[in-house]
Amino acid sequence: MRRSFRFLLRPTSKQAAALAQCLEDHRQLYNAALEHRRTAYRKAGVSVRYGDQSAELKNIRADDAEGQGRWSFSSQQATLRRLDKAFSAFFMRVREGRTPGFPRFKGWGWFDTVEWPKDGDGCRWDSQPGHPTTTFVRLQGIGHVKVHHHRSVKGRVKTISAKREGSRWYVILSCDSVPAEPLPAAGAVAGIDLGVAWLVTTSDGGHVTNPRHLVTSADRLAAAQRDLAHKKRGSSRRGRAVARVAALHAKVRRQRLDCAHKAALTLVRDYDMIAHEALRIANMTKRAAPEPDGQGGYLANGASAKSGLNRSILDAGWGVFLTVLAHKAESAGRELIAVNPSSTSRTCARCGHSARENRVTQAEFVCVACGHTAHADVNAAINILRAGLALREAAGAA
Ligand SMILES: [Zn+2]
Repeated sequence: MRRSFRFLLRPTSKQAAALAQCLEDHRQLYNAALEHRRTAYRKAGVSVRYGDQSAELKNIRADDAEGQGRWSFSSQQATLRRLDKAFSAFFMRVREGRTPGFPRFKGWGWFDTVEWPKDGDGCRWDSQPGHPTTTFVRLQGIGHVKVHHHRSVKGRVKTISAKREGSRWYVILSCDSVPAEPLPAAGAVAGIDLGVAWLVTTSDGGHVTNPRHLVTSADRLAAAQRDLAHKKRGSSRRGRAVARVAALHAKVRRQRLDCAHKAALTLVRDYDMIAHEALRIANMTKRAAPEPDGQGGYLANGASAKSGLNRSILDAGWGVFLTVLAHKAESAGRELIAVNPSSTSRTCARCGHSARENRVTQAEFVCVACGHTAHADVNAAINILRAGLALREAAGAA
């Protein structure tokens, strides 16, 4: 299994400056390489390839020993490969008959990661293994940087990346041959419904909530985004507002990931098989459809613009949650089944009658055919479980 581990770095102020410089030089390299490709194409109709650019690195480094020459050759190659990938994706979309945007120059703040593609090549994880209390990672041109090593790393370290998030730096290790850690059989199966007020509702009627602090951060982020929209381009106030949005984004990401880990761990411990709705991107980006107000009418579209923005921030956690759940399920030897979510929320779990009118409010389900009442999310979770079991049976019979 492949898995990544992420740790906060604790650089000295000198190392933090070197990290910033390293990132900046890699950004410049990316942009210079992009400029090179554009010019060659426009002026001579020539496509420049990764191999051509990689071959030129040697000269670039020799001509700028105090600048580009300081950093790892391999991390620079990784940056050029990243550009190459952007071009491959661009040409693929062109071939598919779409009109994609040309790969873009990376502005400051739009380039946040340097990757060293191989442990031991310009970088070294656990570079001072004899140290009694602290773990270090050595990065070429930066030094041995202290790591906040809060959990153990498993498997073999393949690549090492340094990432800037606001004012913090992280190291991300991508490991392979990570051993699976199967759990004993739980003797239970569940369907799960994903929501906003509660991140997860299980078919047993259990809830995992979006924690208060995540909801608060999402509120603050939504407010900061509205605030930013009113600031004049190029003003110093706008600069501060941008920094605030970025910092809150990073905070929401951290809290969301933390919440996803805890929720996924609980589910994987409790159930041998978990059925969930297959997420559709359209589902996640569509917003502010009129919602019943619970008194027979509908709220006007956009009437809840404030909650809409906040809601979309919380919604975005579903993809993260399902990704974390998939990793944990694989490691624990649990079965995860994605089902078509088309009518799970309006079908009665008792009699199977499917009607829009069954869903009285966001929270309440009353079947118009048999009178069955239930929490709407629990009703949906039961339908999801049934669909999952049916899929499993069909797969077993095939
Ligand atoms: Zn019914």
